[in-house]
Formats: sequence, structure tokens, C-alpha cells
Amino acid sequence: MSSGARRSTRRAGRARRSTRRAGTATGAWVPKTRLGKKVVGGEIKSLDELFASNLPLKEPEIVNLLLELEDEVIDVKIVQRMTDSGRRMTSRVAVVVGNGDGILGFGVAKGKEVGPTIQRAVEHAKLNIFEVRRGCGSWECGCGRPHSLAMKSIGKCGSVEVTIKPAPRGVGLVIGSNVKPILKLAGIEDIWSFARGNTQCTFNFAKATVDALRNSAKIKGGAT
Ligand SMILES: [Zn+2]
Repeated sequence: MSSGARRSTRRAGRARRSTRRAGTATGAWVPKTRLGKKVVGGEIKSLDELFASNLPLKEPEIVNLLLELEDEVIDVKIVQRMTDSGRRMTSRVAVVVGNGDGILGFGVAKGKEVGPTIQRAVEHAKLNIFEVRRGCGSWECGCGRPHSLAMKSIGKCGSVEVTIKPAPRGVGLVIGSNVKPILKLAGIEDIWSFARGNTQCTFNFAKATVDALRNSAKIKGGAT
């Protein structure tokens, strides 16, 4: 019962881990929400149906049942604070999840130990998934495959403003290396971008990039 006594000093790596829990999730998990019950009951079978249902997504297990997501730690910030009882450490972890095929989510969590905090950030990210509007929006390309964006999009967080633009095939991800994993997990291969503000702050840069990708989706979703 003293598992909390062991202090973990494991540092957060940038390695990708598969969050798939094949088999066990279906048997053990009992949904509490209306959406969860519909997914387990087979009434909702796909992510499109989930989005169309407009029901609140509150259980990450729902997402595990519908699709396979990879996650990647984008930023870990350790904050030290002096209190009368001594030194206290808190970590803030930012994580992205994606299926490499147009689905992306961003999640943040705070906690004392990095390991469990990453897990909670992943769960938050799963509850925030959205569809990125991909496409081949570059007039120089015209291949018609969804390797880039359909059109230009802008995102902001703090002082950082990111503009992402469609690029032709073979350009690659022309964006800061600290946020490249976000585009990879979203399934985007080619992009042009420029950014203003303090892009050294990975957290704000990452959030602004996700914001830009989310805005690209809104343009389409507004019609229906
Ligand atoms: Zn193209």
C-alpha cells in the first residue's frame, strides 16, 4: 500500500508510445456516460458518428475503442517552489495524440510526478480530439491527396502567432523542430509556416500550432 513512497525520477522522453490497449479495454471498462454506453452498445461505431452525436466526450476509454492513437510528449516544465515544509516540485506536461491520419488532440496536466502526469495529459488530449482539415491546397502541386492543408490557417497562444500554409509534395515540414511531431501525428507531410513571438517557449508554440490546425477544421465545419 506504500507505492506512493517510492520516488520516481524518470524523465519524460520524447519517445512515442502506443496507447493501444487491445482486448483488455473492451472487457474491463464499464461506461458511465451516455456517449460511452452508445459506443459500447454499438450504436456509435465511428469517430464521424461520435462527432455527429454532439454528446460530451468525457471518457478517454471511448476514444480507445474507436481508434488507435499515438502520443508524444511535447513539453515538460518542472516548477520548484519553497514552502514552510520544504521544497515542492510540480510538473506541467503537454502532450499531443494523433492517428497520423487527420485526427489530433492536445492535452495538459499538472502533478508531482512526471510519469502519472503524462498519463493524465494523454487522457485529456484524447478528450480533446478533433479532425484536421487536410488537403492539397498548393497551386504548385495539385495532386489532390491530403498530404498538406486545404488552405492557410492562423493560430495564437500568448505572444506566439503561427501561420501554416499548404505546400507542394516533397517540401516537408517547414516549421520549428519542437512542434514538428504535432504535424506528423496529424498526418500532414508538407507545410510552410511562419511564426511570430517567443517560439522558444515550446508550450505556447505548440498550443498555437494546434490552434491553427483546429481553426483549419472550423472553416469546413461551420457550414453544416
Ligand atoms: Zn499535392
